[in-house]
Amino acid sequence: MENKAHLEITAAKQMKELMKQHFMELDEASRTKSRKIAWCSSVGPAELAMSLGFLVYYPENHAAMLGSTRTAMDYIPVANAHGYSPEICSYLTSDIGAYLRHETPLTKAYGIKEVPKPDVLLYNTNQCRDVYDWARFYGREFHVPVLGINTPRSQNESREHVVFSVNNQLRDLVGPLERIARRRFDIDEFREVLGRSRECSRLWEAVLETGANKPSPLTFFDECIHMGPAVVMRGRQEANDYYQVLLAEMKQRVENKVAAVEGEKLRFYWEGMPVWGKLRSLSELFARLKASVVVSTYCNSWIFNAFDPADPFASMAEAYCSIFIGQDEVWKENYIADKVKRFAIDGILFHDARTCASNSNNRYGMSQRLSQRLGIPHLVINGDLNDLRCYSEEQTVTNVEAFVEQIEESRSENVRRN
Ligand code: SF4
Repeated sequence: MENKAHLEITAAKQMKELMKQHFMELDEASRTKSRKIAWCSSVGPAELAMSLGFLVYYPENHAAMLGSTRTAMDYIPVANAHGYSPEICSYLTSDIGAYLRHETPLTKAYGIKEVPKPDVLLYNTNQCRDVYDWARFYGREFHVPVLGINTPRSQNESREHVVFSVNNQLRDLVGPLERIARRRFDIDEFREVLGRSRECSRLWEAVLETGANKPSPLTFFDECIHMGPAVVMRGRQEANDYYQVLLAEMKQRVENKVAAVEGEKLRFYWEGMPVWGKLRSLSELFARLKASVVVSTYCNSWIFNAFDPADPFASMAEAYCSIFIGQDEVWKENYIADKVKRFAIDGILFHDARTCASNSNNRYGMSQRLSQRLGIPHLVINGDLNDLRCYSEEQTVTNVEAFVEQIEESRSENVRRN
């Protein structure tokens, strides 16, 4: 049933075409061997590979498709049977399970028979260790090199030593990648790709910032869909062209005071991973309660302000070391506090994703500390990114309804007192 309380985005059609183009190109390259293909973790050294002519495929994006099509649960047990624990990243287990079953959602979506074959696997442990083990699995399967960046996590503001190391590790990738690409590295091509990626990041950030307006022209659930090009096509002009269109649509909405959620009364922050298989039902739930989820950590993770084509290696190291997930809790709390203030947030939703400890930030008391510091309530939603067996729809609806009621009651109480 279409959700009338939540407004659809016109640019969505163009975005779907763009995603199709991305996968069709990869499929063609894989079948005809016309281009080399790098598989890359989501915040791995993609721009470097692109500057050497690789097309880039992101297993996490494929895993999110398994989540949103709700096929992940068919595949997780297959990976479990191969020794991959049900407690580790369900992106990893669903993706590996689908591979072992020779199935992919790309078949139904685009008529593509199988995922493109890699010539190299690239990772960066800036987000978690799982991406390394994930790449190693495919390295063994396809007999291709696994190259990567090992970034320490839980950093704080003074991360110079980490950036220094990552800068050197990035430079060390050039030789092996040149040999696989059978092509010489050209720093000017690298600068160009990084410049386009920087522009993509700037435009995506501008789109997300429109959520600070009251009412918000878009929600976290829209952003999860529209972040696709920023994830898989950053560094390409097509992504930038798309975000110009999306940004124009959002600006128009702001100008006309068009709300993504009709009658927006409350504004929430989403902390943690999306529940991919429940985006629509969660979007409908919040819209029904006239609550708009206007900002999130997750969708902001594809903003890389530090990219600087004048100093490509050092700035890429700085950008990829600065992502939210890699920082310590003090840094993360300051980041969220800033967003809560700027986006006029009434409450924070913490998604405790069972199989992603790295992106479940409620587990060490952060939710309580932030509520105390900011004077706003929080709610923990228990679930998972892909494994819906960890998520209860009934429980979530009850808890969210009670949370909204509690905020509205305390608002009325404040009005009465004043
Ligand atoms: S950050 Fe979480 S969801 Fe992403 S790859 Fe790592 S464990 Fe999986």
